[in-house]
Order: sequence, then structure tokens, then C-alpha cells
Amino acid sequence: MNLSYSADEERFRAELRAWLSANPPGPEPERLDEWVAYGKAWQRRLWEAGWSGVAWPAEYGGRGASLIQQIIFQEEMARAKAPLLINLAGLTMGGPVLIAHGTDAQKRRHLEKILAADEIWCQGFSEPNAGSDLAALRTRAVLDGDHFVVSGQKVWTSFARYADWCMALVRTNPDAPKHKGITFLLIDMHSPGVTVRPLRQISGDEDFNEVFFDDVRVPRANVIGEIDAGWDIAITCLMHERQTLTFSRQLQSSVALHDMLATARARGTARDSLARQALAAVVVEAHAMRYTAYRNLTRALRGEVPGPEGSIEKLFWSEMYQRQTETALALLGPHGLLEKDSAHAVDHGRWPHLFLYARGRTIAAGTSEVQRNIIAERVLRLPRER
Ligand SMILES: Cc1cc2nc3c(=O)[nH]c(=O)nc-3n(C[C@H](O)[C@H](O)[C@H](O)COP(=O)(O)OP(=O)(O)OC[C@H]3O[C@@H](n4cnc5c(N)ncnc54)[C@H](O)[C@@H]3O)c2cc1C
Repeated sequence: MNLSYSADEERFRAELRAWLSANPPGPEPERLDEWVAYGKAWQRRLWEAGWSGVAWPAEYGGRGASLIQQIIFQEEMARAKAPLLINLAGLTMGGPVLIAHGTDAQKRRHLEKILAADEIWCQGFSEPNAGSDLAALRTRAVLDGDHFVVSGQKVWTSFARYADWCMALVRTNPDAPKHKGITFLLIDMHSPGVTVRPLRQISGDEDFNEVFFDDVRVPRANVIGEIDAGWDIAITCLMHERQTLTFSRQLQSSVALHDMLATARARGTARDSLARQALAAVVVEAHAMRYTAYRNLTRALRGEVPGPEGSIEKLFWSEMYQRQTETALALLGPHGLLEKDSAHAVDHGRWPHLFLYARGRTIAAGTSEVQRNIIAERVLRLPRER
């Protein structure tokens, strides 16, 4: 591993840091609808300054940043406590998929609006009976002239309530083997027959949704790639999701850890010997996580095909994050139960909220059990699951 940066990379960092200090994102609103307006305005400012879609090729409005520059971008955003980009699904999955598989007309129609957050995208993959086994999906799309008629249900669709476009996997050939006969279709969320119902999570947030399609007419021109050949595109999409999330995960948890140590010091907890042991344990794990992320980065920089280390990282990070937030609550004692509406809440109730939100991390983007299966088969060479 080489942990140093070139002069060019340092220049990139300095330019971004200067821009962020002149354009601080400001505090994030607590209410989701206010956050959405704030998130759109923030991403628009980034776009106007050329900082939206840094990983996209310059010819499509991005910055053509190298992998290291993308990491620097994430580090500086974390350092500035900037919010997650609101159009994450569009920036990290939709745009790259269009660039790789879209027609010129599709690229012209969508790419700039994704970068500027003029239109928000969501990912309509999971269904009530198709999550880990995604290829079991049943939402149907039947061709009728130059339109598809779509009927079925998606679930856990993040941000669907605020989305303008859904990249949906639909079954176009029910007679083909299950990985065949799936098409990648762009659905306008404002079409007649689309109903979105928010789901309230344990954390009180409502960023998940159920999405119902009742005979929704979708132009055939909205197919990405070929009809019945959407599975491979879905895999490209999930690989983009994984690659982008990989490094930002450990940055996200190190920011939380840094703040947790500051809170422990400010409250005097850090002087207690048992608390110190607990804090040291999470710090050690965070360091192990950081170097695992660097090892994966090194592989990617050498141009090696992503291997099962992505699963090791996802598994370790999501479970570590839960232990970290559990430690924060244990250290706060009874105050750990107080949520943001209480006058005595610590750090505006951030820790119980993070604790509850962290539960979903071992589910999203592949559950811990699924990651363990991958590790068992591809690292330990155990027999394949039947
Ligand atoms: C925060 C968050 C955001 C999400 N956002 C989106 C989104 O925007 N769009 C979208 O399409 N989806 C989204 N999802 C859904 C996510 O992809 C699924 O929840 C995930 O793939 C698991 O599917 P499932 O919930 O149907 O659980 P299931 O697949 O039904 O699994 C249920 C349980 O069975 C276990 N299990 C399943 N198969 C195996 C196996 N082969 N071996 C051992 N154990 C197994 C699982 O580990 C789990 O414990 C999101 C989920 C979360 C938590």
C-alpha cells in the first residue's frame, strides 16, 4: 500500500477544501421534506461549481476524477460535515448505467438533470418476495404497441416519495429462466397508476417506501439496454453501488467515532476505566476497518477485478457500526434514551437515532448472512449453497 498523495492529488484536495470553506453546507434541517429542499439546493451548488458527479467522465458533465481523487472528495466532504448527496441513486447508479448502456437520446434527456439534482432518482429493485433473491422479482411489464404496461409492487424504495424517476427491474418474459426475461426500465414516478406509500422505520424516519404500479404505461424508449437483458445491467448497477459505498462507509463511521470521543471527553465519561476499555475497543476496530478499506483500494488501483473483500468490508463495517452506536448509548446511560425532542437529550438525540438507524445497515446492500455465504464460498472455498 502507498498511503501518500501526488502533487496533483494534493492540489485537487486544496481546491475542494477552499471551495468548501467558502461555501459551507450549513446545518441540516431535521424534517425530511425540509431536508429534501436543502439537499437539492446543496447538490445544485456543487454542480454549478463543477463538484457534482466527480467520478463521471468530463464529456458527460463530470470531472473525470481518478479513484484517489474520488476518495479525496469523500474525505473532504466528510471533513466539512457535508450532507450525503440527495441524488445518490442517480449519481452512483443511474448516471453510470446510462453512460455505459443508454442511448444518446437517454443520455441527453437525463444526465444533466441528475447532476444538478433537478430530477431525483430511486432504485426500484426489491419486492416483497425478492430481496436477497432479487431475480425472483415479479413486477410485470407487457408490451402494448410502443408502450409497456407495468403492474406490481416494489418495497424499501429509498426516497421514492421525492423521486422523479425510478430505475426499475421488471419481468418482461415470465417463461424464461429467472435471471433472463428481466428488463431494466426507467419509470416516470409522476405517471398515472404510480402510488407511493411511505414506511415508518424504527428510527422514526420515513425515507423508505412501498411503490405500487397499476397498469402504468411506460414508453418502450425507456428501456435501458435490450429487452429481457436487464439482469446484467442490474449487476453493473449494484457493482457501482458497492464500489461507491465502500470507502465512504468507513469515513462515515470515523466521523461518528470522532464525535463520540469528544462527547465522552466533554461529559467526563472518558475518565472511567470501563468506559475507556469500551472506547478503545471501538477505536481499534475502526483502525482495522480503515486498513481493510485501504487494502481494497489498492486492489482497485491495480486494476484487479473486485473480489470477495467487498463482502468482508461490508460485513465488518455494518456490524462494527452497530457496536459503535451501542457503545455510545451504554456510555450515555439513561441519557442515551432521550431523543431529539427532549430538552435533556445529548447532542440533540443523535446517538439513539444513529443506534436505531444502524440496525438497517446489516440488511441494505446485501444482508450479513448473504455476505457470509459469499465469504464462505469464495474465500474459504466451502461447498456452494444449494
Ligand atoms: C437502509 C435500506 C435501504 C434500502 N434501499 C433500497 C432501495 O432504495 N431500493 C431497493 O430496491 N431496495 C432497497 N433496500 C432493500 C434491500 O436491498 C433488501 O432489504 C435486502 O436485499 C434484503 O432483502 P429482504 O429485505 O427481502 O430480506 P430477505 O432476502 O427476505 O431476507 C430475510 C432474512 O433471510 C436471510 N437470508 C436470505 N437469503 C439467505 C440465504 N441464501 N442464506 C442465509 N440467509 C438468508 C437474510 O439474511 C435475512 O436475515 C434497502 C434496505 C435497507 C435496509
